[in-house]
Amino acid sequence: MNRKCLRYRDEIPAYLEDRLTESDLEDFLLHLQHCEACSEELSTQYLMSRGLRILESDLPFDLNTELKELRERRSRQLRSRRTQSLAALILEIGALIAFVLEVALLIRL
Ligand SMILES: [Zn+2]
Repeated sequence: MNRKCLRYRDEIPAYLEDRLTESDLEDFLLHLQHCEACSEELSTQYLMSRGLRILESDLPFDLNTELKELRERRSRQLRSRRTQSLAALILEIGALIAFVLEVALLIRL
């Protein structure tokens, strides 16, 4: 485990509860793709946080599938948040262009 891992270990609860910021989430997902140790730690913490509910229910439980679904859900959130900021940016640029055109028209008149 390297020093970088410590940061990501601290972020695991926030990841599970969806409290990471966009950039932290991006870093976190990237790191987990390459770090076996942190992936294992995530499994452990996930299992602990879900443990009681799993024991209480008789529902079939597949840790790897659940973690994979969680990761996909978080990735989708990240993408949709990005799309939203991109859409906002395009609107801003549109408004700016409209403003510039208006000023240009005013100057010509
Ligand atoms: Zn790590």
